[in-house]
Amino acid sequence: MTDDAGLTQMALGEDYADIRDGVRKVCADFPLVYWREKDEIAEYPHEFVDAMTQAGYLGALIPEEYGGAGLPVRAGSVILEEIHAAGCSAAACHAQMYIMGTLLRHGSDAQKQAYLPGIASGEIRLQAFGVTEPTTGTDTTQLKTRAVRQGDHYLVSGQKVWTSRARQSDLMLLLARTTPVDEVAKRTDGLSTIIVDLREAVGNGLEIQPIPTMINHSTNQVFFDNLKVPVANLIGEEGKGFRYILDGMNAERVLVASEAIGDGRWFTEKAVAYANEREVFGGPIGANQGIQFPIAKAYAQVQAAELMVRKAAALFDAGQPCGAEANMAKMLASEAVWEAAEACMQTYGGFAFAKEYDIERKWRECRIFKTAPISTNLILAFVAQHVLGMPRSY
Ligand SMILES: Cc1cc2nc3c(=O)[nH]c(=O)nc-3n(C[C@H](O)[C@H](O)[C@H](O)COP(=O)(O)OP(=O)(O)OC[C@H]3O[C@@H](n4cnc5c(N)ncnc54)[C@H](O)[C@@H]3O)c2cc1C
Repeated sequence: MTDDAGLTQMALGEDYADIRDGVRKVCADFPLVYWREKDEIAEYPHEFVDAMTQAGYLGALIPEEYGGAGLPVRAGSVILEEIHAAGCSAAACHAQMYIMGTLLRHGSDAQKQAYLPGIASGEIRLQAFGVTEPTTGTDTTQLKTRAVRQGDHYLVSGQKVWTSRARQSDLMLLLARTTPVDEVAKRTDGLSTIIVDLREAVGNGLEIQPIPTMINHSTNQVFFDNLKVPVANLIGEEGKGFRYILDGMNAERVLVASEAIGDGRWFTEKAVAYANEREVFGGPIGANQGIQFPIAKAYAQVQAAELMVRKAAALFDAGQPCGAEANMAKMLASEAVWEAAEACMQTYGGFAFAKEYDIERKWRECRIFKTAPISTNLILAFVAQHVLGMPRSY
């Protein structure tokens, strides 16, 4: 929203109250024990994803003409925050909200017609995002997966790592090199975004191997061996894919940061309740400053990070540049939720380690925000170079 003076406005307080209320109602059917059991057997939360899809929340950002709700990123941010504040996890389904943006902004009309209505209705899942590779990590422009054009299709060969939800998704948005790095003027050129239909690809040049991890994140290695993909699946122009991916990253940062804020609220509430109820040495442990100050400090940090999330979302939705704010929001939220998680672990004492309290699980889960989708150092490098004008450090 922009006012008469051209300034971007942002709402404070419980914006999108109806959405918040609706999300809480869906989440009420998925208590902590549901997530604990899924974690123990490392199983994808299909029932939760189905319920969220049916309630229309996963298609919230898809324009109405394609069957979605046509809401701004701030609404998506509210949905994900509330899911996490309720003790649930959006990791199984959040990617759809931002991957879909690449298709929406850069896909052809035919591609949008082919995929978006199915994604909005839940018939098609676009949950997999194949960017990171084992040998090149954060240095995305050096990635090695090649897509070589042969007539009306590409032959894709290479390997991706940490491709979350590849086994539960129908489609994957793949970033691959279509022109070798030594033949392009800029290393960011020559990369392309291509939709891979996993339903056809598995067993025909594509293999998926799960990676057991410390959190239930359905993540995998994906191997491509001369996989045939129609050229019709290329998004936008060949060689411009890096730009398209960067384009979607601000929304991704804002949405993921919102999950961290939701978790921060959950940890704080849990910690306060336990601090007030647990009595040792003849009184509630929360009467000790050593217990209450870390909780109060984490609360303040979550509140501050939440303001940056709102600012980044407001700028994004007003079509303003927001790279710095979106990155800072993600970094501040990841640090705030970690403070809250640590305060909660410490407040629960030994009971924090008992699985039935869910604190250790949520503590493990929220650690991811400091590493993925982008790690803290890379955000600091971005701020130092692009916001503060210092030399590139790498
Ligand atoms: C559970 C999970 C799910 C994931 N899901 C997906 C997914 O669905 N799709 C996908 O494409 N990726 C996914 N990722 C990958 C994730 O985005 C990367 O792990 C992350 O970006 C870091 O890359 P890396 O692991 O290769 O670390 P590296 O790039 O090897 O970096 C390792 C460490 O070195 C630091 N570092 C590297 N370079 C510099 C530098 N120049 N200056 C200072 N520090 C530096 C980093 O900050 C980091 O702390 C997932 C990861 C995890 C753990």
